[in-house]
Amino acid sequence: MSSRTICLTPELHDYMLSVSLRETEILSQLRQETANHPRSNMQIAPEQGQLMSLLVQLLGAKKTLEIGVFTGYSALSVALALPPDGKIIACDISEEYTAVARRYWQAAGVSDKIDLRLAPALETLDALLANGGAGTFDFAFIDADKENYLAYYERSLQLLRQGGLVAIDNVLWHGRVIDPESQDEETIAIRELNDKIAKDDRVTLSLVPIADGVTLAMKR
Ligand code: CA
Repeated sequence: MSSRTICLTPELHDYMLSVSLRETEILSQLRQETANHPRSNMQIAPEQGQLMSLLVQLLGAKKTLEIGVFTGYSALSVALALPPDGKIIACDISEEYTAVARRYWQAAGVSDKIDLRLAPALETLDALLANGGAGTFDFAFIDADKENYLAYYERSLQLLRQGGLVAIDNVLWHGRVIDPESQDEETIAIRELNDKIAKDDRVTLSLVPIADGVTLAMKR
């Protein structure tokens, strides 16, 4: 019997992956290339990509949003799970990082599904809202600058349809959310969003302690 989440030792984590991870060759190649990147910790865990792929299929998603692309692993995971006419609007500001992403999207044959918008994400989201995008998205993944997490969450909620899902990355922030010494802007922003969602009756939620913590919030 266990009333709390098990602690994953490295060995148990390896076992978990050995009996569950179905990472395609192209995703594996992208992960390996990104592992050498100086900011490789910005890449999501493969089991998290697989969870998102499952969620997108459960939702029957066709239109999704990604806020924070980096080298494209999460968008590739989602794109591979979308139907042929599925679309991702992907927001990032880095030409350099997303150049890697585009190379892999091309190689995987999913480039047509991904509409990369190189601009501050708030501008892209506001433009989507101004152009009648509210209530039209099935899924959103938030994994960009933490200071804007609350603003990304609010806009994503508006853009989602009823029953649509927002997934928010790094909500446990390597444990810093409970460290009173951590008073930097990023940590404070994540705490504020976590506190907000905990009381937010617009959504049904679960915080999944996978990788660095992913909050799943379904729009009611
Ligand atoms: Ca992240």
